[in-house]
Amino acid sequence: MTGSAAFATTAPSLVERTRRIVELEIAPRAEATDRDARWPVENMQALARAGLTGLAVPAQHGGMGLGLSGLAQVCETIATACPSTALCFGMHCVATAVLAARATADQVERFLVPIAAGRHLTTLALSEAATGVEFYFPRTMLHDEPDGFLVDGEKAFVTNGGYADSYVTSVTDGTDHAPGQFSCLVIEAERLANAWGPPWTGLGMRGNSSRSVALDHVPVPRENLLGRKGDQIWFVFEVVAPWFLIAMASTNAGIAHAAVDLARADIAGRVRTHTATTLAHEPVVQTQLARAFRAVVAARALVQSAALRADEGESDAALWVMAAKAQATETAVSVVNSAMDLCGGRAYREGHGLARLLRDARAGNVMSPTSNLLEMWIGRSLLGVPML
Ligand SMILES: Cc1cc2nc3c(=O)[nH]c(=O)nc-3n(C[C@H](O)[C@H](O)[C@H](O)COP(=O)(O)OP(=O)(O)OC[C@H]3O[C@@H](n4cnc5c(N)ncnc54)[C@H](O)[C@@H]3O)c2cc1C
Repeated sequence: MTGSAAFATTAPSLVERTRRIVELEIAPRAEATDRDARWPVENMQALARAGLTGLAVPAQHGGMGLGLSGLAQVCETIATACPSTALCFGMHCVATAVLAARATADQVERFLVPIAAGRHLTTLALSEAATGVEFYFPRTMLHDEPDGFLVDGEKAFVTNGGYADSYVTSVTDGTDHAPGQFSCLVIEAERLANAWGPPWTGLGMRGNSSRSVALDHVPVPRENLLGRKGDQIWFVFEVVAPWFLIAMASTNAGIAHAAVDLARADIAGRVRTHTATTLAHEPVVQTQLARAFRAVVAARALVQSAALRADEGESDAALWVMAAKAQATETAVSVVNSAMDLCGGRAYREGHGLARLLRDARAGNVMSPTSNLLEMWIGRSLLGVPML
């Protein structure tokens, strides 16, 4: 009896808290978010009300002070219902972690405290059309002026574009073109008011508002520089890469998990009148579903282990984190494909949940670092060759 009493009074786990929001708020809107390519404002508000958007803010500034294990649990749980929302949430957490890594007292007050209170959403603007997947070579220029900086350039595929309150943006002053030798600034949304490209209408991840933004002589105060000028290689490998890779890996693990659940429900309900059984009695269907399930279990376990290793500061954590993103992304695409086969013609109809997951899963590998890049980096690390 003591066991059940203790259980009843235990605070809900992070996953349970997230699941509650997913059931009440996120799942019911998932289809419309995709169909209308609509940024999921109500979902993000619900996550903020629950304190979850403060996940990456250190506890001393009012946040949850969680690391990559927490990020993985929340992103995976959201992605089982709405991968677009998981991506919006994940990119907010990545940018928050960058802000928090070397925040000045002023940046804590202006950015981290409001994020912890659920009043501020941030996001990451690294990619540019000119350099594509090689995001560590920004061409957006930082001009040093007597009273601050001026920023010129164009960022592409900014998740939460036009909706976030601030944008963590990579820039170069043009003096050093070595990979990773760039700077990061945080730019408030007001400074980008008329700079946004057309609304995002992607093949998948249609709710993430992945827009381009043109920066034309945008004035930014010196206080918005993150860390020291030019030392972003540290940010890339210590903060951006682990947080981004775990956000994407867990989102894709969630997509794969959801695909197996959809296939299970579909198969169990598919009655075959000529044999008076359901598809569940077909041995080929049983083994194909088991194979998909096995892949999901392996990907989820890998993502959680990689996140834990990074949180615990294990020396090989970077290798695990890179492997986790590549593995989970491939698993998501192959498991959703298997689930499509298992569900047959019905899954091919417009509006079926698997069709949405198939389109959403495809974004994982397009998002840099791609599996090819990660494999190259893993190989170089294993062989003691510089990654960049
Ligand atoms: C839904 C979505 C959301 C996104 N969100 C964000 C975001 O929030 N913030 C952000 O900064 N970016 C974001 N991105 C951008 C993303 O991370 C990539 O930078 C972008 O998709 C690259 O596309 P591209 O067409 O420029 O690729 P290109 O650079 O033109 O590359 C095309 C293909 O060539 C291959 N390739 C190119 N260069 C190399 C190389 N050096 N090594 C190995 N293979 C290579 C790869 O297969 C790659 O897929 C997002 C993208 C998408 C689709």
